[in-house]
Amino acid sequence: MNIAIDGPAGAGKSTIARLAAKELDFVYVDTGAMYRAIALYLLDNDVDINNEKALVSALQQIHINIVYESGVQHVFLDLQDVSTEIRSEKVGNMASKSSALAPVREKLLDLQRDIAAKNNVIMDGRDIGTNILPNAELKIYLTASVDVRAKRRYDELIIHGENPDLEEIKKGIETRDYQDMNRDIAPLKQAEDAVLIDSSDMTIAEVVDEIVKLANERK
Ligand code: C5P
Repeated sequence: MNIAIDGPAGAGKSTIARLAAKELDFVYVDTGAMYRAIALYLLDNDVDINNEKALVSALQQIHINIVYESGVQHVFLDLQDVSTEIRSEKVGNMASKSSALAPVREKLLDLQRDIAAKNNVIMDGRDIGTNILPNAELKIYLTASVDVRAKRRYDELIIHGENPDLEEIKKGIETRDYQDMNRDIAPLKQAEDAVLIDSSDMTIAEVVDEIVKLANERK
């Protein structure tokens, strides 16, 4: 069984998908991490993403491996586990830019479909229900207002001892939404047959329960 969860940055997709996967005993696949791993390589190697030749040649050097350890996804660039490094804002912003490019998306398409073909998965991303797994048994479009998403990110950074600026976080989220929703290839949008969940006024547990309930109904 395949469950697709799409939605904008900061809607809580990964936290919720991870918990729902645990309850259902499914594999949680974080596709954003794959785009981030590519972005990290492009940044570390100063690749000019507007130069298609340079981009294609760089992509040929990138070997992404996905490994699951006790249900937790680890992303490797060659032999290096980059799961922590890819979490920075800088890498996220680069991922949002580079994921708009056809060669980048093509590189990840088969990898994502292959994992879904071999496992019961909850896969989260931007184009899973619309493009990667059009036949998924359950599709969720998970969103929340920009203000709520910015505040959640702000609180997270405060917990990590940082000194964030709420307005700046909000602007960053709006830019990322715009880029992800307005690109030519596989833009973020709700699939016609997706269930819309707005988590603005819901707790994490409530959203997880809703998804697990829908999944059990469709098993
Ligand atoms: O979900 P996350 O914030 O980790 O994703 C980083 C970026 O990767 C997103 O802003 C988006 O541009 C891109 N992405 C994508 N398609 C996916 C998953 C992520 O384009 N399936």
